[in-house]
Amino acid sequence: MQGSILVLSGPSGCGKSSLVTEILKSYHDIYFSISTTTRDIREGEAEGVNYHYITKKQFEEEIEEGMFLEWAKVHDNYYGTSLKPVKAALDAGKLVIFDIDVQGHEIVKKKFDDIMTSLFITTPSADVLRERLIHRGTDSMDVIEKRLLNSREEMQRIDEYDFLLVNDIFDETLKKFKAIVDVSRMKIDKKSKDNFINKWYNES
Ligand code: 5GP
Repeated sequence: MQGSILVLSGPSGCGKSSLVTEILKSYHDIYFSISTTTRDIREGEAEGVNYHYITKKQFEEEIEEGMFLEWAKVHDNYYGTSLKPVKAALDAGKLVIFDIDVQGHEIVKKKFDDIMTSLFITTPSADVLRERLIHRGTDSMDVIEKRLLNSREEMQRIDEYDFLLVNDIFDETLKKFKAIVDVSRMKIDKKSKDNFINKWYNES
């Protein structure tokens, strides 16, 4: 049995984590891929819940050992997706959700295009994003400026995604997000399609 993949990208602070948290409450056959990062743990985050937090040296060793399905440097820190748990979840027929940046999306798409759906989430404007990041109060102004700069570049790549969600009113966005989750669970890999075609010709 082969599962499917939903890749989420979008600026830090656009609401991806809150949407995923809500979805995980009502769906039990979804695996959220917990990335590994070298960035500092934020207030309210926990090891093994939001990320696995390791040092730069450890991260570079894991790259050497081929532990990552994909990894990227974002805002001066490493972020990466471990291969093993993703493979196990796909083998168990689950929908795997990734919260990864545009670089990660490009790599995952190359490897899993036939079972993958992609969604870019953002705020109604750059100003709203700035306000949300300041209001969140988890990053210094210096870090916020870096994130805003990065988000401007990421916005240029929206066209590479299947869907765009503008997170203005959270409950409305959540409804649309649920619809996209349902659709992405229906993606079938090429092998299953070929099997079906053979069966279609040969069964009465
Ligand atoms: P944050 O520091 O706000 O949690 O995440 C910063 C950025 O890193 C976000 O755009 C997020 O999607 C991205 N990111 C988180 N985990 C991964 C990962 O495993 N791989 C890649 N390529 N990007 C990631």
